[in-house]
Amino acid sequence: MSATPLSTARRVVVKVGSALLVDRKTGLKHDWLAALVDDICALTGSGAEVMVVSSGAIALGRTILGLKPAQLKLEESQAAASVGQIALASAWSRELGRHDAVSGQVLVTLGDTEERRRYLNVRATVSTLLKMNAVPVINENDTVATSEIRYGDNDRLAARIATMMGADLLVLLSDIDGLYTAPPGTSDDASFVPHVEQITPEIEAMAGAARSELSRGGMRTKLDAGKIATAAGTAMVIASGTRLNPLAAISAGERFTYFKPSSDPVKGYKTWIAGNLEPAGMLVVDDGAKAALASGKSLLPAGVKSVSGAFARGDTVAIVTPDGHEVARGLVAYDASDAVKIAGLKTSAIAGVLGYEARGAMVHRDDLVMSRIGGRAKAANGTAGE
Ligand code: GLU
Repeated sequence: MSATPLSTARRVVVKVGSALLVDRKTGLKHDWLAALVDDICALTGSGAEVMVVSSGAIALGRTILGLKPAQLKLEESQAAASVGQIALASAWSRELGRHDAVSGQVLVTLGDTEERRRYLNVRATVSTLLKMNAVPVINENDTVATSEIRYGDNDRLAARIATMMGADLLVLLSDIDGLYTAPPGTSDDASFVPHVEQITPEIEAMAGAARSELSRGGMRTKLDAGKIATAAGTAMVIASGTRLNPLAAISAGERFTYFKPSSDPVKGYKTWIAGNLEPAGMLVVDDGAKAALASGKSLLPAGVKSVSGAFARGDTVAIVTPDGHEVARGLVAYDASDAVKIAGLKTSAIAGVLGYEARGAMVHRDDLVMSRIGGRAKAANGTAGE
């Protein structure tokens, strides 16, 4: 058998979508989970380290509680997650236990991965679980996550965990077997894409906005996950989980889409900056600044044309061209109110305007990561000034 991404990977994150694990009427799909756990234990048995990001808490909780409405209120979702997560975690623990494997539940919120100290803390816990040969079973802590401060989808969460842990492979098991040139169902001539060299705007255009009823992430969040993963050197696979033993099926040659990792990945501290999910603001830069950044220089106030977002010193900002393409991300050295005042100014003029001797750079090159692909940046909330 030829090598597959799974046969060569030493550290793997497997993300399981809600629709695979939970049937809206009957609840948890025990046979499916049991078969997946067989696959996972075959991987760990061959020496790989496996982490699971399992969705399904809200879907399972709403079935257990008999909640009917299609759209739940935030507090109802949180309550459903609370009920569902216990059942979900115990199912994983029971199935892994059949193979004498131990599982450890890890529930994270957005802040746990976006704030540097907490990020290191989660990483230490998950590393320790792996050292102890336990399988980390990870989910968002939906019970306390509110709409403004949550991932909402486990695709990006799984990518963030994969890069945090230096995994070499992220497998997204989904109800679709990979990427198509157009969302299947919307176009008759959509064809399957087995290999993605780089997530370019053309690839992103293939995603459409498809969402299935039970899961939050569609192809769009999967491509977002792919960007986070590949930039940090983690390969990603999207494969179908609609059959039993989906990981064994990948090894046996069933088709999937493979996203190639960057050959020049960002590491460590810069991985954390690059994967930051919600930039707090945006700095629009001129061509000169863009070229300076590309040659490894810091971003000086002189090259900043406008500033938006309500950010504080140390927050992540997106650095974009006037037509909205992201060129870099970095930790900004000024609060938004000061950044607005000094945008466009020469370094020698800054102290006079701010009334204090400040750093020269708006974003220092040590705190800056070039974006791998010029994706369109999302507008930050609130405008600090032009
Ligand atoms: N964290 C959610 C849950 O467990 C799932 C999010 C998603 O569908 O990606 O219910």
